[in-house]
Amino acid sequence: MEIHILRLGHRLPRDERISTHVALVARAFGAGKITYCGQHDSGLEDSISRICARWGGDFAIEYSSSYKKVISQYKKHGYSLVHLTMYGLPVQDVLSKLKLEEKILLIVGSEAVPGDVYESSNYNVSITNQPHSEVAALAITLDRICSGAELEGIDFGGKIRIKPSAKGKEFV
Ligand code: SAM
Repeated sequence: MEIHILRLGHRLPRDERISTHVALVARAFGAGKITYCGQHDSGLEDSISRICARWGGDFAIEYSSSYKKVISQYKKHGYSLVHLTMYGLPVQDVLSKLKLEEKILLIVGSEAVPGDVYESSNYNVSITNQPHSEVAALAITLDRICSGAELEGIDFGGKIRIKPSAKGKEFV
């Protein structure tokens, strides 16, 4: 399954860290690309590109000034739109349908998400109906969709790799 991410409403400086974490979680858990909207942030792009250069993988980051354009392009290319929101249907209730999709665009917000995102999405999905974080919502959704396969270790082919150890830090 191909999974891309749309991060809405990036705000500088407020979202610098959290958008970086959204992108890092997306990459580490097997998504292929993140598009972010809101304010353009070359620092965000540079830090994700540096991680990819060092730790490997084909992950891409792109900016778009229009989430509406991103959504319509992804729809045109046959992606199913899955918007993560505390108001949506519990992930466990829609998971069997999500697993059947071949291409998914996972959408996460920052501040209040415009109503048309709820309307255009094929699924509005919640990870509990409590307010928390886009990073947690994304991580749990990717883990559920991939049934934990990402924990078995995706081969990123990076310049550095960690050798898991009970104590200390080991690199290969
Ligand atoms: N007051 C904001 C609102 O309601 O739009 C809260 C935004 S929240 C900090 C940022 C993003 O985290 C949301 O747009 C959503 O994508 C995600 N999120 C937060 N809680 C969630 C939940 N329980 N289930 C799914 N996604 C959630």
